[in-house]
Amino acid sequence: MSELIDNRINSRCRRCGRPAVVRVKYAKLTLCREHFLEYVEERVLKSIKRYSMLNGVRRILVALSGGKDSLSLFYILHSIRDKVGLEHIIGFHIDLGLGSFSIDSKKAVETACNELRSPCIIISLKDLLGYTLPELVEKTHRPPCSLCGLIKRYLVNLVSVELGVDAVSLGHHLDDILPYAVKDFLIQDTVDLAKMTPIIPGYPGLVSRKLKILYEIYEDDLESYAKLRGIKTVEAHCPFSYVDPLKEASRKMLDELEEKAPGFKISVARRLANNPITQPSGNEIIPCRYCGMPSKNGVCGICKLTTRIHGRPIGGEIRYKVREYISSMKIPH
Ligand code: SF4
Ligand code: ZN
Ligand code: ZN
Repeated sequence: MSELIDNRINSRCRRCGRPAVVRVKYAKLTLCREHFLEYVEERVLKSIKRYSMLNGVRRILVALSGGKDSLSLFYILHSIRDKVGLEHIIGFHIDLGLGSFSIDSKKAVETACNELRSPCIIISLKDLLGYTLPELVEKTHRPPCSLCGLIKRYLVNLVSVELGVDAVSLGHHLDDILPYAVKDFLIQDTVDLAKMTPIIPGYPGLVSRKLKILYEIYEDDLESYAKLRGIKTVEAHCPFSYVDPLKEASRKMLDELEEKAPGFKISVARRLANNPITQPSGNEIIPCRYCGMPSKNGVCGICKLTTRIHGRPIGGEIRYKVREYISSMKIPH
């Protein structure tokens, strides 16, 4: 965990002796801006190596929400790309149609992609499904985050399969992953718990390999990184965001334990990554008969959803539109 420090306090950078701007509590370090950015990038590199996350990965898709976590990840990957052998880093954003929140999120993603000269795929939910997220919520009466999760999982996977990238990286960090893992353990949701690992393996042509590159990175570090690197991120929260009481209680408990024993969260995450309960189950995945995307029983969640709202499954049409859009962008192979 880190915090920006008042530069009137006479702290010096441990690496170069210049005035420090960040205190990294768990490592008992004070660092200047340059050395803090370098420090975070080194920590990401170490966890990439620890879990062999980028072995065989040359092209990667990064899911970008416009918030500090995914945008910091995007900038970090660009900074370390030569060290890890990444040839192409492609951004991906879904415009959910959530009013000014979506407008600002899209702007933040576009700014980052322009600054980093990175190809960026931006897809509008309204264009693809004919409805924005609030309109879908009204039509289906389903909880917004469950609908949103279904749509994001489907589109991230679809875009990565159509692009033929080697992996997808999501912006989940240590302070996201552990409270979910504790909650999953408490309610014994072992299926979800098995997803709290640094790598979720893929199936060629059907499911992309998912990576949590920020698996060992604290949220505070990403916040300080984004501020010090001058990344323009969306500040507002999604209008549908809510506090999950069990996840919040788990987060508080983990924060207290971290306060007492700095580094506690990292050691829990390392055990979780190697726990037999979180290893891939090898459950069968069946391609959806309408769109070819993964399903449990032959019809994927999006084809079920669109049958309900359009009277027919339109996963195949969505896939065709995405394919056309991607080929028009001429993204390097
Ligand atoms: Fe989607 Fe908003 Fe829920 Fe996040 S808070 S999952 S963006 S609806
Ligand atoms: Zn320094
Ligand atoms: Zn389908």
